[in-house]
Amino acid sequence: MYNKKKASTTIFIILCIGLVSCNFSSTSSINQDLLAIINSLQKEYIVLNDNETFHDLFIRGQAKYKVVRDFELINGVADEIPVLMYHHLLLSSENNFKGNSAILDVETFFEQMEILFKSGYTTVTLLEFEKWLSGEIELPKKSVSITFDDGYLSNYIYAYPILKNFNFKASQFLITNTAKEESEPFDPNVLQYLTWEDIVSTLDVFEYSNHTHDLHHLENNKGFMISKPIDYVYEDTLENMSLTNCKYFAYPYGHYNDEVLDILESVGIKMAFTVKSGPVKKGDSPLELNRYGIFPSTSISKFNYMINNQ
Ligand SMILES: [Zn+2]
Repeated sequence: MYNKKKASTTIFIILCIGLVSCNFSSTSSINQDLLAIINSLQKEYIVLNDNETFHDLFIRGQAKYKVVRDFELINGVADEIPVLMYHHLLLSSENNFKGNSAILDVETFFEQMEILFKSGYTTVTLLEFEKWLSGEIELPKKSVSITFDDGYLSNYIYAYPILKNFNFKASQFLITNTAKEESEPFDPNVLQYLTWEDIVSTLDVFEYSNHTHDLHHLENNKGFMISKPIDYVYEDTLENMSLTNCKYFAYPYGHYNDEVLDILESVGIKMAFTVKSGPVKKGDSPLELNRYGIFPSTSISKFNYMINNQ
C-alpha cells in the first residue's frame, strides 16, 4: 500500500550495486524452527494439458473454498473477529528496504503465527467469515482471519510454508493485472508478484480475492477507485471478479466513497475490507469491514491486544 511499488523500485535502483545474495542456511541469527520451515518449501512442477492455462487450474482449485467446515464450539462462540492485514515479507537479513512500513520481517510474522497457534486460534476462510457476519453460522470464540494485500511472491516463499506448518488458512487480495502465467525465481531485492502458477501451487493454504484489476494507483493522494470515472471503476471491478471468480474485495489504500459502495453492491461483492483498525463485530456493514494492519511498528503486546480484543 501507499504506493510502495514505486518507492521500492526507486530504492532498488539505488541499492542494486550492493546486492546481498540470499542463502537461508547461512543466516545464523534466524530461529532454527523457522529456518527448517522455510527450507521445507518444495515448489511443485505442474504439467498443463493442451489448451489449459494455470489460470484455468486456479479457477478449479479455488472452488474448495466454497465449503463451510464444521467447527468445535465447546469453548464459546465469537461475537467479534479480528481480521489481520499483511503485505510483503522479507527475512530481516535480506530486507534492504528498512523503514518501508509495508514490509514485515519473516521472523516477526513467524512469531505472530506461533502465538495464534499456541493460543488455539482457528483461521477462518472468507466464506465462513461471511456466513458468521450475516448470522448464518457460529464460529469459535478464538477465530481470526489472516489476509495479505497485493499478491506478493514473498507470500509464497515465506508466508505459505509458515501458514502450512501451523495448518492455517489465509486470504490474498490480488491486483489481477500483475498476475502472469509463468513463474520466476525469487529475488528479495525486487518487488515481485505472484503468477497464476504460484497461485495454483498455494491453494491448499490461500484463497484469492479482489484488490482491483488495475486500479492500485494513486492520483493526488487519491486511490484510482475514488479518482477515476464510475464506468472505469465498474469495468475494472468486473474484470477483477471474473479473474478471481470471487466476491470479496479489499480497497487499495482503504480508499472508497458512496459511489464505490454502490458499484460494489451492484456487481455482487459480498464483503469489502477497509484499513480502519478494529475487530469486526457480527452484523457490521459488509462493505466497510475493519482490519488490523500489521506493520514493523506493531509490537507483540499490541498484536496480543488485537487478537484478544474480542
Ligand atoms: Zn494494496
